Amino acid sequence: MNHSELFAASPVDPVDAAPETRVFAHLIDGALETSTSTFDVINPSTGRAFARCPDASRAQFDAAVTAARRAFAGWSRTSFEERRERLNRFADAIEQRVEPLARVLTLEQGKPLAKARIEIRRAVGIIRHLVTIAIEPETLREDASGRVELRHKPLGVVGGIAPWNVPIVLAAPKITSALYTGNTMVLKPSPYTPLTTLMIGAIAREFFPAGVLNVLAGGNELGQWMTEHPGIDKITFTGSVATGKRVMASAATNMKRVTLELGGNDAAIVLGDVDVKAVARPLFDAAFANSGQICQAIKRLYVHTSIYDALVDELADIARRVPVGDGFDEQVELGPVQNRMQYERVLELIDDTVRQPGVRIVAGGRAIARDGYFIEPTIVADIAEGTRLVDEEPFGPVLPVLRFDDIEEVLGRANASPFGLGGSVWTRDVERGAELAARMETGVAWVNHHLGVPPEFPFGGVKESGIGRANGEMGLKRNMEPQLVVVPAR
Ligand code: NAD
Repeated sequence: MNHSELFAASPVDPVDAAPETRVFAHLIDGALETSTSTFDVINPSTGRAFARCPDASRAQFDAAVTAARRAFAGWSRTSFEERRERLNRFADAIEQRVEPLARVLTLEQGKPLAKARIEIRRAVGIIRHLVTIAIEPETLREDASGRVELRHKPLGVVGGIAPWNVPIVLAAPKITSALYTGNTMVLKPSPYTPLTTLMIGAIAREFFPAGVLNVLAGGNELGQWMTEHPGIDKITFTGSVATGKRVMASAATNMKRVTLELGGNDAAIVLGDVDVKAVARPLFDAAFANSGQICQAIKRLYVHTSIYDALVDELADIARRVPVGDGFDEQVELGPVQNRMQYERVLELIDDTVRQPGVRIVAGGRAIARDGYFIEPTIVADIAEGTRLVDEEPFGPVLPVLRFDDIEEVLGRANASPFGLGGSVWTRDVERGAELAARMETGVAWVNHHLGVPPEFPFGGVKESGIGRANGEMGLKRNMEPQLVVVPAR
Protein backbone atom coordinates (compact mmCIF):
# COMPACT_ATOMS: atom_id res chain seq x y z
CA MET A 1 0.00 0.00 0.00
CA ASN A 2 1.45 3.31 -1.00
CA HIS A 3 0.04 6.39 0.72
CA SER A 4 2.78 8.76 -0.22
CA GLU A 5 0.57 11.71 -1.23
CA LEU A 6 -1.36 11.60 1.99
CA PHE A 7 1.79 11.08 4.00
CA ALA A 8 3.77 13.77 2.26
CA ALA A 9 1.03 16.25 3.09
CA SER A 10 0.98 15.48 6.77
CA PRO A 11 3.60 13.72 8.83
CA VAL A 12 6.61 15.88 8.15
CA ASP A 13 4.52 18.95 7.59
CA PRO A 14 6.53 21.88 8.94
CA VAL A 15 3.21 23.53 9.80
CA ASP A 16 3.06 21.08 12.66
CA ALA A 17 0.00 18.99 11.82
CA ALA A 18 -1.52 17.33 14.88
CA PRO A 19 0.24 14.01 15.45
CA GLU A 20 -3.16 12.35 15.98
CA THR A 21 -4.09 13.07 12.35
CA ARG A 22 -0.80 12.08 10.80
CA VAL A 23 -0.26 8.89 8.87
CA PHE A 24 3.07 7.41 9.79
CA ALA A 25 4.79 5.21 7.24
CA HIS A 26 7.91 3.15 6.63
CA LEU A 27 10.47 4.20 4.05
CA ILE A 28 11.09 1.22 1.78
CA ASP A 29 12.97 1.47 -1.50
CA GLY A 30 12.38 5.21 -1.71
CA ALA A 31 8.60 5.00 -1.13
CA LEU A 32 6.47 5.63 1.95
CA GLU A 33 4.38 2.61 2.82
CA THR A 34 1.94 1.76 5.57
CA SER A 35 1.17 -1.82 6.66
CA THR A 36 -2.07 -3.73 7.03
CA SER A 37 -1.11 -4.37 10.63
CA THR A 38 -0.55 -1.50 13.11
CA PHE A 39 0.21 -1.11 16.81
CA ASP A 40 -0.55 1.58 19.39
CA VAL A 41 2.01 4.15 20.42
CA ILE A 42 1.48 5.18 24.05
CA ASN A 43 2.11 8.63 25.51
CA PRO A 44 3.95 7.80 28.76
CA SER A 45 2.65 11.00 30.37
CA THR A 46 -0.93 9.71 30.13
CA GLY A 47 -0.51 5.96 29.69
CA ARG A 48 -2.88 6.23 26.71
CA ALA A 49 -2.38 5.56 23.01
CA PHE A 50 -2.16 8.66 20.82
CA ALA A 51 -1.23 7.24 17.42
CA ARG A 52 -1.04 4.04 15.39
CA CYS A 53 2.23 2.86 13.95
CA PRO A 54 2.54 0.58 10.92
CA ASP A 55 3.94 -2.84 11.80
CA ALA A 56 6.27 -4.02 9.00
CA SER A 57 5.43 -7.41 7.53
CA ARG A 58 8.06 -9.98 6.67
CA ALA A 59 7.50 -9.20 2.97
CA GLN A 60 8.11 -5.49 3.57
CA PHE A 61 11.28 -6.24 5.50
CA ASP A 62 12.56 -8.55 2.74
CA ALA A 63 11.75 -5.86 0.16
CA ALA A 64 13.76 -3.32 2.18
CA VAL A 65 16.80 -5.62 2.32
CA THR A 66 16.54 -6.34 -1.40
CA ALA A 67 16.32 -2.60 -2.12
CA ALA A 68 19.29 -1.85 0.12
CA ARG A 69 21.39 -4.54 -1.58
CA ARG A 70 20.47 -3.25 -5.03
CA ALA A 71 21.21 0.35 -4.06
CA PHE A 72 24.59 -0.58 -2.59
CA ALA A 73 26.16 -1.12 -6.01
CA GLY A 74 25.68 2.52 -7.02
CA TRP A 75 25.91 4.21 -3.62
CA SER A 76 29.21 2.54 -2.66
CA ARG A 77 30.79 4.01 -5.80
CA THR A 78 29.77 7.60 -5.04
CA SER A 79 32.45 9.85 -3.58
CA PHE A 80 32.74 10.94 0.04
CA GLU A 81 32.08 14.50 -1.22
CA GLU A 82 28.76 13.54 -2.75
CA ARG A 83 27.69 11.60 0.32
CA ARG A 84 28.79 14.48 2.56
CA GLU A 85 26.77 16.95 0.52
CA ARG A 86 23.62 14.80 0.62
CA LEU A 87 23.93 14.16 4.36
CA ASN A 88 24.44 17.87 5.02
CA ARG A 89 21.28 18.69 3.06
CA PHE A 90 19.46 15.99 5.04
CA ALA A 91 20.71 17.62 8.28
CA ASP A 92 19.44 21.02 7.07
CA ALA A 93 16.02 19.54 6.34
CA ILE A 94 15.82 18.03 9.83
CA GLU A 95 16.86 21.36 11.33
CA GLN A 96 14.00 23.08 9.49
CA ARG A 97 11.56 20.70 11.22
CA VAL A 98 12.83 20.76 14.80
CA GLU A 99 9.44 21.76 16.18
CA PRO A 100 7.18 19.07 14.67
CA LEU A 101 9.82 16.41 15.28
CA ALA A 102 10.37 17.49 18.89
CA ARG A 103 6.63 17.50 19.58
CA VAL A 104 6.19 13.94 18.37
CA LEU A 105 9.31 12.93 20.30
CA THR A 106 7.86 14.36 23.53
CA LEU A 107 4.54 12.62 22.87
CA GLU A 108 6.08 9.21 22.34
CA GLN A 109 9.13 9.39 24.62
CA GLY A 110 7.84 11.64 27.43
CA LYS A 111 10.87 13.92 27.78
CA PRO A 112 10.33 17.67 28.29
CA LEU A 113 9.79 19.52 25.00
CA ALA A 114 12.89 21.68 25.54
CA LYS A 115 14.97 18.50 25.84
CA ALA A 116 13.31 16.99 22.78
CA ARG A 117 14.29 20.09 20.79
CA ILE A 118 17.85 19.71 22.08
CA GLU A 119 17.83 16.06 21.02
CA ILE A 120 16.80 16.91 17.44
CA ARG A 121 19.37 19.73 17.22
CA ARG A 122 22.05 17.48 18.64
CA ALA A 123 21.24 14.86 16.01
CA VAL A 124 21.70 17.55 13.33
CA GLY A 125 25.07 18.47 14.86
CA ILE A 126 26.15 14.82 14.92
CA ILE A 127 25.37 14.37 11.21
CA ARG A 128 27.23 17.57 10.30
CA HIS A 129 30.24 16.65 12.40
CA LEU A 130 30.64 13.03 11.29
CA VAL A 131 30.74 13.99 7.60
CA THR A 132 33.74 16.24 8.22
CA ILE A 133 35.89 13.24 9.14
CA ALA A 134 38.16 12.13 6.30
CA ILE A 135 38.79 8.44 5.67
CA GLU A 136 41.93 8.25 3.52
CA PRO A 137 43.98 5.27 2.34
CA GLU A 138 47.09 4.90 4.52
CA THR A 139 50.51 4.02 3.17
CA LEU A 140 51.90 1.49 5.63
CA ARG A 141 55.22 1.05 3.81
CA GLU A 142 56.87 2.63 0.80
CA ASP A 143 60.39 1.72 -0.32
CA ALA A 144 62.38 0.54 -3.32
CA SER A 145 60.37 -2.68 -3.48
CA GLY A 146 57.04 -0.86 -3.79
CA ARG A 147 54.28 0.18 -1.43
CA VAL A 148 51.71 -1.32 0.89
CA GLU A 149 48.44 0.58 1.31
CA LEU A 150 45.61 0.12 3.76
CA ARG A 151 42.28 1.04 2.19
CA HIS A 152 38.81 0.98 3.68
CA LYS A 153 35.79 -0.32 1.81
CA PRO A 154 32.12 -0.21 2.79
CA LEU A 155 30.64 -3.43 4.16
CA GLY A 156 27.35 -3.56 2.27
CA VAL A 157 23.99 -3.33 4.04
CA VAL A 158 24.05 -2.17 7.65
CA GLY A 159 21.12 -2.99 9.95
CA GLY A 160 20.52 -0.39 12.67
CA ILE A 161 18.50 -1.23 15.79
CA ALA A 162 17.74 1.50 18.33
CA PRO A 163 16.23 1.76 21.83
CA TRP A 164 13.59 4.14 23.23
CA ASN A 165 15.53 6.51 25.49
CA VAL A 166 17.16 8.92 23.01
CA PRO A 167 15.83 7.58 19.70
CA ILE A 168 17.02 10.35 17.39
CA VAL A 169 20.40 11.02 18.98
CA LEU A 170 21.07 7.32 18.44
CA ALA A 171 19.50 6.98 14.98
CA ALA A 172 21.41 9.97 13.53
CA PRO A 173 24.94 8.58 14.02
CA LYS A 174 23.84 5.12 12.88
CA ILE A 175 22.43 6.54 9.63
CA THR A 176 25.36 8.89 9.05
CA SER A 177 28.11 6.40 9.86
CA ALA A 178 26.61 3.80 7.53
CA LEU A 179 25.73 6.07 4.61
CA TYR A 180 28.76 8.37 4.69
CA THR A 181 31.11 5.39 4.47
CA GLY A 182 29.25 4.06 1.40
CA ASN A 183 26.93 1.49 2.94
CA THR A 184 23.18 1.29 2.59
CA MET A 185 20.91 0.77 5.58
CA VAL A 186 17.80 -0.76 7.06
CA LEU A 187 16.96 1.03 10.33
CA LYS A 188 14.52 -0.08 13.00
CA PRO A 189 13.46 2.16 15.90
CA SER A 190 12.13 0.79 19.19
CA PRO A 191 8.43 -0.15 19.05
CA TYR A 192 7.96 2.21 22.05
CA THR A 193 9.26 5.27 20.16
CA PRO A 194 8.96 4.61 16.41
CA LEU A 195 7.25 7.74 15.12
CA THR A 196 9.92 10.44 15.16
CA THR A 197 12.30 8.03 13.44
CA LEU A 198 9.71 7.32 10.74
CA MET A 199 9.42 11.09 10.23
CA ILE A 200 13.20 11.27 9.85
CA GLY A 201 12.92 8.51 7.23
CA ALA A 202 10.28 10.49 5.35
CA ILE A 203 12.55 13.55 5.35
CA ALA A 204 15.47 11.44 4.07
CA ARG A 205 13.52 10.29 1.01
CA GLU A 206 14.32 13.50 -0.82
CA PHE A 207 18.09 13.30 -0.34
CA PHE A 208 19.13 9.72 -1.07
CA PRO A 209 18.55 7.38 -4.01
CA ALA A 210 15.84 4.74 -3.50
CA GLY A 211 16.96 1.90 -1.25
CA VAL A 212 19.97 3.69 0.28
CA LEU A 213 18.11 4.31 3.54
CA ASN A 214 15.12 2.20 4.58
CA VAL A 215 13.33 2.83 7.88
CA LEU A 216 10.88 0.22 9.15
CA ALA A 217 8.89 0.06 12.37
CA GLY A 218 7.92 -3.18 14.01
CA GLY A 219 8.25 -5.27 17.14
CA ASN A 220 11.17 -7.22 18.51
CA GLU A 221 10.72 -9.93 15.86
CA LEU A 222 11.66 -7.36 13.19
CA GLY A 223 14.96 -6.92 15.05
CA GLN A 224 15.43 -10.67 15.07
CA TRP A 225 14.76 -10.90 11.31
CA MET A 226 17.44 -8.27 10.80
CA THR A 227 20.06 -10.12 12.80
CA GLU A 228 19.31 -13.38 10.95
CA HIS A 229 18.98 -12.09 7.37
CA PRO A 230 21.93 -13.13 5.17
CA GLY A 231 21.47 -9.96 3.10
CA ILE A 232 22.58 -7.77 6.01
CA ASP A 233 26.34 -7.48 6.56
CA LYS A 234 26.54 -5.63 9.85
CA ILE A 235 24.33 -4.85 12.82
CA THR A 236 24.77 -1.64 14.76
CA PHE A 237 22.71 -2.20 17.87
CA THR A 238 21.98 -0.01 20.87
CA GLY A 239 19.95 -1.53 23.69
CA SER A 240 20.14 -3.81 26.69
CA VAL A 241 22.88 -6.33 27.45
CA ALA A 242 20.39 -9.22 27.28
CA THR A 243 19.22 -8.32 23.77
CA GLY A 244 22.80 -7.50 22.72
CA LYS A 245 23.82 -11.06 23.52
CA ARG A 246 20.97 -12.41 21.40
CA VAL A 247 21.97 -10.08 18.55
CA MET A 248 25.56 -11.25 18.69
CA ALA A 249 24.62 -14.94 18.71
CA SER A 250 22.24 -14.52 15.83
CA ALA A 251 24.67 -12.35 13.82
CA ALA A 252 27.07 -15.30 13.74
CA THR A 253 24.93 -17.02 11.06
CA ASN A 254 26.65 -15.08 8.26
CA MET A 255 29.50 -13.61 10.30
CA LYS A 256 27.87 -10.19 10.46
CA ARG A 257 30.02 -7.47 11.90
CA VAL A 258 28.53 -6.02 15.08
CA THR A 259 28.80 -2.80 16.98
CA LEU A 260 27.00 -3.20 20.30
CA GLU A 261 26.26 -0.23 22.54
CA LEU A 262 24.71 -1.80 25.59
CA GLY A 263 23.70 -1.04 29.13
CA GLY A 264 25.77 0.54 31.85
CA ASN A 265 25.95 0.77 35.61
CA ASP A 266 28.26 3.77 35.78
CA ALA A 267 30.02 4.56 39.03
CA ALA A 268 30.95 8.11 40.05
CA ILE A 269 33.50 8.39 42.86
CA VAL A 270 33.42 11.61 44.89
CA LEU A 271 36.54 12.28 46.96
CA GLY A 272 36.43 14.09 50.29
CA ASP A 273 38.06 17.30 48.98
CA VAL A 274 35.17 18.51 46.78
CA ASP A 275 32.92 21.50 47.42
CA VAL A 276 29.74 19.62 48.25
CA LYS A 277 27.35 22.40 47.20
CA ALA A 278 29.15 22.89 43.87
CA VAL A 279 29.13 19.22 42.84
CA ALA A 280 25.65 18.26 44.04
CA ARG A 281 23.73 19.67 41.06
CA PRO A 282 26.00 18.31 38.30
CA LEU A 283 26.00 14.92 40.00
CA PHE A 284 22.21 14.98 40.26
CA ASP A 285 21.84 15.99 36.61
CA ALA A 286 24.22 13.27 35.43
CA ALA A 287 22.18 10.68 37.34
CA PHE A 288 18.65 11.92 36.59
CA ALA A 289 18.95 13.27 33.02
CA ASN A 290 16.11 11.86 30.91
CA SER A 291 14.68 10.55 34.21
CA GLY A 292 17.70 8.28 34.63
CA GLN A 293 17.10 6.62 31.26
CA ILE A 294 20.54 7.18 29.76
CA CYS A 295 23.00 4.36 29.26
CA GLN A 296 25.80 6.51 30.65
CA ALA A 297 23.95 8.15 33.54
CA ILE A 298 25.52 7.84 37.00
CA LYS A 299 23.89 4.75 38.47
CA ARG A 300 26.12 4.15 41.51
CA LEU A 301 27.38 7.15 43.46
CA TYR A 302 30.34 6.43 45.77
CA VAL A 303 30.92 9.26 48.26
CA HIS A 304 33.77 9.64 50.74
CA THR A 305 32.57 9.16 54.28
CA SER A 306 33.80 12.64 55.36
CA ILE A 307 31.22 14.38 53.12
CA TYR A 308 28.69 11.59 52.79
CA ASP A 309 25.89 13.01 54.94
CA ALA A 310 26.28 16.54 53.56
CA LEU A 311 26.15 15.38 49.92
CA VAL A 312 23.22 13.03 50.53
CA ASP A 313 21.30 15.97 52.07
CA GLU A 314 22.05 18.22 49.10
CA LEU A 315 21.00 15.56 46.59
CA ALA A 316 17.81 14.83 48.51
CA ASP A 317 16.99 18.52 48.58
CA ILE A 318 17.38 18.82 44.79
CA ALA A 319 15.36 15.62 44.24
CA ARG A 320 12.45 16.96 46.31
CA ARG A 321 12.41 20.26 44.41
CA VAL A 322 12.87 19.17 40.80
CA PRO A 323 9.60 19.56 38.83
CA VAL A 324 8.36 16.27 37.35
CA GLY A 325 5.45 16.02 34.93
CA ASP A 326 4.12 16.07 31.39
CA GLY A 327 6.84 17.13 28.95
CA PHE A 328 4.54 19.77 27.40
CA ASP A 329 4.42 21.68 30.71
CA GLU A 330 7.23 24.24 30.38
CA GLN A 331 8.13 24.14 34.08
CA VAL A 332 8.89 20.43 33.99
CA GLU A 333 12.51 19.21 34.16
CA LEU A 334 11.92 15.45 34.35
CA GLY A 335 9.31 13.48 32.43
CA PRO A 336 7.88 10.02 33.07
CA VAL A 337 9.53 6.64 32.76
CA GLN A 338 9.07 5.78 29.09
CA ASN A 339 6.94 2.63 29.25
CA ARG A 340 4.88 0.54 31.63
CA MET A 341 7.30 -2.38 31.74
CA GLN A 342 10.21 -0.12 32.70
CA TYR A 343 8.02 1.76 35.21
CA GLU A 344 7.06 -1.49 36.92
CA ARG A 345 10.67 -2.64 36.93
CA VAL A 346 11.89 0.56 38.62
CA LEU A 347 9.09 0.38 41.22
CA GLU A 348 9.99 -3.26 41.86
CA LEU A 349 13.66 -2.28 42.43
CA ILE A 350 12.56 0.45 44.87
CA ASP A 351 10.33 -2.04 46.63
CA ASP A 352 13.22 -4.47 46.95
CA THR A 353 15.42 -1.64 48.27
CA VAL A 354 12.95 -0.61 50.95
CA ARG A 355 13.05 -4.15 52.32
CA GLN A 356 16.84 -4.10 52.83
CA PRO A 357 17.82 -3.65 56.50
CA GLY A 358 19.40 -0.26 57.33
CA VAL A 359 18.77 1.29 53.91
CA ARG A 360 17.26 4.81 53.94
CA ILE A 361 15.09 6.38 51.21
CA VAL A 362 15.99 10.03 51.76
CA ALA A 363 13.90 11.47 48.92
CA GLY A 364 11.10 10.09 46.76
CA GLY A 365 10.53 6.36 46.79
CA ARG A 366 7.01 6.22 45.37
CA ALA A 367 5.02 6.34 42.17
CA ILE A 368 3.38 9.74 41.64
CA ALA A 369 -0.40 9.44 41.97
CA ARG A 370 -1.52 10.51 38.49
CA ASP A 371 -1.98 9.01 35.05
CA GLY A 372 1.18 8.02 33.21
CA TYR A 373 4.39 6.40 34.37
CA PHE A 374 5.70 8.92 36.89
CA ILE A 375 8.05 8.06 39.76
CA GLU A 376 9.39 10.52 42.35
CA PRO A 377 13.10 11.23 41.92
CA THR A 378 14.52 8.88 44.53
CA ILE A 379 17.76 9.08 46.52
CA VAL A 380 18.77 6.00 48.49
CA ALA A 381 21.39 6.17 51.26
CA ASP A 382 23.23 3.62 53.41
CA ILE A 383 23.00 1.01 50.69
CA ALA A 384 25.78 -1.31 49.50
CA GLU A 385 26.65 -3.84 46.83
CA GLY A 386 24.73 -7.08 46.94
CA THR A 387 21.39 -5.28 46.52
CA ARG A 388 19.57 -5.32 43.18
CA LEU A 389 19.48 -1.52 43.00
CA VAL A 390 23.27 -1.31 43.13
CA ASP A 391 24.17 -4.40 41.12
CA GLU A 392 21.65 -4.04 38.27
CA GLU A 393 21.03 -1.20 35.84
CA PRO A 394 17.84 0.50 37.12
CA PHE A 395 17.33 2.83 34.11
CA GLY A 396 14.96 5.13 35.99
CA PRO A 397 14.88 8.08 38.42
CA VAL A 398 16.52 6.37 41.39
CA LEU A 399 20.10 6.73 42.63
CA PRO A 400 21.88 4.63 45.27
CA VAL A 401 24.54 6.57 47.23
CA LEU A 402 27.27 4.35 48.70
CA ARG A 403 29.86 5.23 51.33
CA PHE A 404 33.63 4.66 51.09
CA ASP A 405 36.75 5.33 53.16
CA ASP A 406 39.65 4.20 51.04
CA ILE A 407 40.26 5.05 47.38
CA GLU A 408 41.90 1.71 46.49
CA GLU A 409 39.01 -0.15 48.01
CA VAL A 410 36.40 1.95 46.18
CA LEU A 411 38.09 1.54 42.80
CA GLY A 412 37.86 -2.21 43.31
CA ARG A 413 34.17 -1.92 44.18
CA ALA A 414 33.44 0.34 41.19
CA ASN A 415 35.23 -2.07 38.85
CA ALA A 416 33.59 -5.20 40.28
CA SER A 417 30.76 -5.00 37.76
CA PRO A 418 30.03 -6.84 34.53
CA PHE A 419 29.25 -3.41 33.02
CA GLY A 420 31.94 -0.99 31.81
CA LEU A 421 30.41 1.93 29.96
CA GLY A 422 31.47 5.12 31.77
CA GLY A 423 32.84 6.26 35.11
CA SER A 424 34.01 9.42 36.82
CA VAL A 425 36.12 10.77 39.67
CA TRP A 426 35.26 14.07 41.38
CA THR A 427 38.04 15.96 43.18
CA ARG A 428 39.76 19.35 43.39
CA ASP A 429 43.01 17.65 42.35
CA VAL A 430 42.31 17.04 38.66
CA GLU A 431 45.63 15.32 37.92
CA ARG A 432 45.12 12.82 40.70
CA GLY A 433 41.55 12.50 39.43
CA ALA A 434 42.85 11.69 35.95
CA GLU A 435 45.11 8.93 37.33
CA LEU A 436 42.25 7.41 39.28
CA ALA A 437 39.72 7.78 36.45
CA ALA A 438 42.09 5.99 34.06
CA ARG A 439 42.01 3.00 36.40
CA MET A 440 38.27 2.58 35.94
CA GLU A 441 37.36 -0.36 33.69
CA THR A 442 35.19 1.66 31.34
CA GLY A 443 35.06 2.92 27.75
CA VAL A 444 35.11 6.52 28.96
CA ALA A 445 36.30 8.03 32.25
CA TRP A 446 35.80 11.66 33.24
CA VAL A 447 37.14 13.96 35.92
CA ASN A 448 34.56 16.30 37.52
CA HIS A 449 32.07 15.53 34.78
CA HIS A 450 29.87 12.62 33.71
CA LEU A 451 27.73 12.04 30.61
CA GLY A 452 28.01 13.09 26.99
CA VAL A 453 30.77 12.33 24.51
CA PRO A 454 30.94 14.67 21.48
CA PRO A 455 30.74 12.91 18.09
CA GLU A 456 34.40 13.50 17.22
CA PHE A 457 35.39 10.98 19.90
CA PRO A 458 34.87 7.20 19.93
CA PHE A 459 32.10 6.13 22.25
CA GLY A 460 31.39 2.70 23.66
CA GLY A 461 31.83 0.29 26.51
CA VAL A 462 34.06 -2.51 27.75
CA LYS A 463 33.06 -5.85 29.28
CA GLU A 464 29.31 -6.49 28.87
CA SER A 465 28.61 -2.85 28.00
CA GLY A 466 29.42 -3.48 24.39
CA ILE A 467 31.72 -4.20 21.51
CA GLY A 468 33.33 -1.64 19.24
CA ARG A 469 32.98 2.11 19.23
CA ALA A 470 30.54 4.53 17.64
CA ASN A 471 31.47 7.95 16.26
CA GLY A 472 34.83 9.52 15.54
CA GLU A 473 37.05 8.05 12.84
CA MET A 474 37.16 4.79 14.79
CA GLY A 475 33.37 4.50 14.73
CA LEU A 476 33.12 5.30 11.02
CA LYS A 477 35.70 2.63 10.22
CA ARG A 478 33.55 0.04 12.02
CA ASN A 479 31.31 0.35 8.96
CA MET A 480 34.18 -0.50 6.65
CA GLU A 481 36.43 -3.45 5.96
CA PRO A 482 40.17 -2.78 5.79
CA GLN A 483 41.91 -4.07 2.68
CA LEU A 484 45.65 -4.33 2.21
CA VAL A 485 46.74 -3.38 -1.31
CA VAL A 486 50.29 -4.46 -2.11
CA VAL A 487 51.88 -2.75 -5.15
CA PRO A 488 55.36 -3.57 -6.52
CA ALA A 489 57.64 -0.69 -7.59
CA ARG A 490 57.33 -1.69 -11.25
P1 NAD B 1 16.14 -3.47 24.32
O1 NAD B 1 17.36 -4.29 24.24
O2 NAD B 1 14.94 -4.03 24.96
O3 NAD B 1 15.67 -3.04 22.85
C1 NAD B 1 16.52 -2.34 21.95
C2 NAD B 1 16.07 -2.62 20.54
O4 NAD B 1 16.26 -4.00 20.24
C3 NAD B 1 14.61 -2.34 20.25
O5 NAD B 1 14.51 -1.72 18.97
C4 NAD B 1 13.99 -3.72 20.24
O6 NAD B 1 12.80 -3.81 19.46
C5 NAD B 1 15.10 -4.55 19.63
N1 NAD B 1 15.04 -5.99 19.91
C6 NAD B 1 14.41 -6.62 20.92
N2 NAD B 1 14.64 -7.96 20.85
C7 NAD B 1 15.44 -8.16 19.78
C8 NAD B 1 16.05 -9.31 19.20
N3 NAD B 1 15.88 -10.53 19.71
N4 NAD B 1 16.84 -9.13 18.13
C9 NAD B 1 17.08 -7.91 17.63
N5 NAD B 1 16.52 -6.77 18.12
C10 NAD B 1 15.71 -6.91 19.19
O7 NAD B 1 16.60 -2.10 24.99
P2 NAD B 1 15.67 -0.89 25.43
O8 NAD B 1 14.92 -1.31 26.66
O9 NAD B 1 14.92 -0.37 24.25
O10 NAD B 1 16.76 0.22 25.82
C11 NAD B 1 17.31 0.37 27.08
C12 NAD B 1 18.70 -0.23 27.14
O11 NAD B 1 19.53 0.36 26.13
C13 NAD B 1 19.41 0.05 28.46
O12 NAD B 1 20.08 -1.09 28.90
C14 NAD B 1 20.44 1.13 28.08
O13 NAD B 1 21.54 1.20 28.93
C15 NAD B 1 20.79 0.72 26.70
N6 NAD B 1 21.37 1.85 25.96
C16 NAD B 1 22.72 1.81 25.64
C17 NAD B 1 23.31 2.88 24.99
C18 NAD B 1 24.77 2.87 24.64
O14 NAD B 1 25.15 3.68 23.79
N7 NAD B 1 25.60 2.04 25.23
C19 NAD B 1 22.54 3.98 24.64
C20 NAD B 1 21.19 4.00 24.97
C21 NAD B 1 20.63 2.91 25.62
